[in-house]
Amino acid sequence: MLLDTHGRTATDLRVSLTDRCNLRCTYCMPEEGLAWLAKPELLTDDEIVRLVGVAVGQLGVTDVRFTGGEPLLRRGLVSIVERCAALASRPRLSLTSNGIGLERVAVPLREAGLDRVNVSLDTLSPETFERMTRRRRHADVLRGLAAARDAGLTPVKVNAVLMPGINDTEAPELLAWALAEGYELRFIEQMPLDAQHGWQRAEMITAERILAALRHRFTLTPEETRGSAPAERWLVDGGPGRVGVIASVTRPFCRACDRTRLTADGQVRDCLFTREESDLRGPLRGGADDAELAELWRRAMWGKKAGSGLDDPTFQQPQRPMSSIGG
Ligand code: SAM
Ligand code: SF4
Repeated sequence: MLLDTHGRTATDLRVSLTDRCNLRCTYCMPEEGLAWLAKPELLTDDEIVRLVGVAVGQLGVTDVRFTGGEPLLRRGLVSIVERCAALASRPRLSLTSNGIGLERVAVPLREAGLDRVNVSLDTLSPETFERMTRRRRHADVLRGLAAARDAGLTPVKVNAVLMPGINDTEAPELLAWALAEGYELRFIEQMPLDAQHGWQRAEMITAERILAALRHRFTLTPEETRGSAPAERWLVDGGPGRVGVIASVTRPFCRACDRTRLTADGQVRDCLFTREESDLRGPLRGGADDAELAELWRRAMWGKKAGSGLDDPTFQQPQRPMSSIGG
């Protein structure tokens, strides 16, 4: 098992398949993009499947989510999913994507064994989308979402980040749309993980503000069971529709965290916000066997800190931005 000194067990693995992306969301990446990892630095498809196999076979991981950067840009994605679905202790498999190109691969991904998707969409306005992502791809995302729903990659969740003065008035409209389309909407508080270091606590849209805006239009009833899920969830107008808020900044859920992360270049991270990583790629390429890799992974997680450190005045943003960690 992947235990830490604070009594938590990590069973949920986030695997970043690439640090590249075809959007440039302002809260994530600069307009010019970033210095991408070179191909030899990236884990190969075989290496990814091997490490996922170690995680589920030896370390008690039950859930695997592929992310990035934009995971749909990874050529071998469908085959990686298929091979992970064929592992002896089959994990639940999900994907977080910006939705571009999902229209084409939703059915192959479902057939390969993917269970669910989260698609990021912050606005219903094509113009605001272009302002936020610096690309004119709003319609592609809507088509990707519909294709995921039609392929049965359900429940389809939509991730939305609200930015002050840009889309912060859209919360109720986004929720009405998601309910009508059969998607589960979750708002994510903006976190200090952008490559440009532009995050400002005083300006971010907090969970409290989001909920207040939603309550003008909807009745929200809190759901009792949160478990280790990062989203707090509410039934909307008595249900069955729901809405979630992931308030990593103002209502952190570190005490129940069950995450472990693997970057596209084979580094284990115990937290989004950590500044420390443990290399698995070197030992893997140097001939380590599965038991040795499992032991290195265990050691990497054992020292996980109690909290993200966001409230500490000495908090320093991690060197890697969200797109390179794997959000
Ligand atoms: N490209 C995919 C996507 O956008 O869904 C997967 C990777 S992206 C880094 C994963 C999630 O992180 C997205 O929902 C995105 O909105 C969110 N995200 C990126 N930067 C963020 C930030 N600074 N604060 C909060 N969420 C962020
Ligand atoms: Fe790309 Fe996702 Fe970052 Fe947007 S949030 S730039 S889609 S990695």
